[in-house]
Amino acid sequence: MSETLIRYQRSAAPKARKSEQQLRQEIVQVCQMLWQRQYVAANDGNVSVRLGPDRFLCTPSGYSKGLIQPDELIIVDGEVEVVGPSYGPKRYLRPTSEMLLHLEAYRQRPDVDAVVHAHPPIAIALSIAGISLAHCLIPDVVLGLGLIPTSDYATPASREGAEVIRELIKRYDAIVLQRHGSVTVGGSVLEAYLRLEKLEQAAQITKTVYELRRPEPLPQAEVDKLVAWREQQGLLRPGQYDDICVVCGINHQAADCGCD
Ligand SMILES: [Zn+2]
Repeated sequence: MSETLIRYQRSAAPKARKSEQQLRQEIVQVCQMLWQRQYVAANDGNVSVRLGPDRFLCTPSGYSKGLIQPDELIIVDGEVEVVGPSYGPKRYLRPTSEMLLHLEAYRQRPDVDAVVHAHPPIAIALSIAGISLAHCLIPDVVLGLGLIPTSDYATPASREGAEVIRELIKRYDAIVLQRHGSVTVGGSVLEAYLRLEKLEQAAQITKTVYELRRPEPLPQAEVDKLVAWREQQGLLRPGQYDDICVVCGINHQAADCGCD
């Protein structure tokens, strides 16, 4: 391994088990960052964590993420039935309308403990303009995420929303939802949020590149180095290797890759 790649190696510290109260605080912190970074507007966006088998802590429906409090988060089961709180003034809160999408991500990814859905404006604009983020333009995006695919369109908060991410989420930690927003997943709510930051930054850079000139993918040899690193770190999910560069058009000039 070259010295350049060694710099990116992760520590293998074991995951400490967090209390429900800590997880509530973490979700609120991430909700505030979502709002401050303008990744959500009005009552948009939702966040959840896996508490255990068939138990998920999630944001309530109809709340600004900038104002939400730890005791306003709701616990639901795998059927989106509310499990708590069952008493007090918070008992009337309903779970986020996108919980089916979150549950689909948890079902397909046993390794994932948190899901963030947001409405990052530049990523949404690019999906409407038909500009994909699945191009090998930015080395640290290839390193950290592999690719950022875009799903088919689904009505927000519908059952189809879960269906359009079903296959993509098996392979990717960050997905653009066509005309709607983003889904990012992680081992913690902060990790899922940070992947959203990378997604929207990739969108910002891609938009700027399109404004300045035609996008130029990384040379194949450089992409191969980055992919080898992902494989070495155990980050290359099944199927990704076949996608990378086929989708972005380095290996094959695929007709629909949009980067010829
Ligand atoms: Zn949404």
